[in-house]
Amino acid sequence: MLEVRNLTKVYNDGTVALKNVSFTVPDGEFLVVIGLSGSGKSTLLRCINRLIDPTEGEILWNGVDLAKLSGEDLRNARRKIGMVFQHFNLVKRSSVLTNVLSGRLGYTSSWKSLLGRFSPEDHKKAVEALKRLGIADQIHKRADELSGGQQQRVGVARALMQEPEMILADEPVASLDPVLAHSIMLRLENLNKEDNMTILCSLHYLDLVQRYATSVIGLRSGEIAYRGSRKDIQAMTDSEFKEIYGEDAERVGGGLEGSLQNMGGTAV
Ligand code: ADP
Repeated sequence: MLEVRNLTKVYNDGTVALKNVSFTVPDGEFLVVIGLSGSGKSTLLRCINRLIDPTEGEILWNGVDLAKLSGEDLRNARRKIGMVFQHFNLVKRSSVLTNVLSGRLGYTSSWKSLLGRFSPEDHKKAVEALKRLGIADQIHKRADELSGGQQQRVGVARALMQEPEMILADEPVASLDPVLAHSIMLRLENLNKEDNMTILCSLHYLDLVQRYATSVIGLRSGEIAYRGSRKDIQAMTDSEFKEIYGEDAERVGGGLEGSLQNMGGTAV
């Protein structure tokens, strides 16, 4: 279980990005974070895995306060938390395989990783992760030769190399068209349902939120302005969503059918 208590982040320039944010995420939840641009979603996700250091508050994960960890303890805790980024954050000139293997770095001694030496087991894991994401045939391509949707699948495969218990996905589909957006969301849902991975994901389309979230928190100016269960979200109208979210809330529209066909599934 993840328990965030009174989390506050003040950046060096005085910007208060998070104010006393508290919420709980039981294991196996697919929590979606919504909120306007600048409301603190990215800061929140990055504080949880300490890409950003929180100013105050606790981030209790299975009883350990991630906010207080450093050095080896922090590295060990981080291994269990995968991160997926809006702009994929791949090394564009490196191969798909190298990018995916880099997800294993937390497990490899630093001299080995400097030399780019990964074990045969790591290679096997990388191939399995790419197979799971349906892009094993792209393994030797350069990352920048892939489409956006394929690059994000590499991003998810890289996160899987950590064998994470939790995935933090910061607007993972904001750079993708609707069909691709669903195809990535379906992969995350699959990890959530099949592997019981906890997912925290920021999104800004109501239909994606309604389709994938098992619970939702809404941020406004760094504070929690909304909490909802799956049932609450299903019942939410566009205008209620806009009230919480702001005027530029929108639906991604269509797309799910096509994505499911691509994945060999059926609409539900
Ligand atoms: P969101 O992900 O919802 O768009 P962010 O977490 O990126 O929101 O930003 C929250 C607030 O913090 C915004 O006001 C933003 O301008 C500010 N902010 C983000 N990163 C920094 C930074 N490195 N330094 C100062 N202010 C920042």
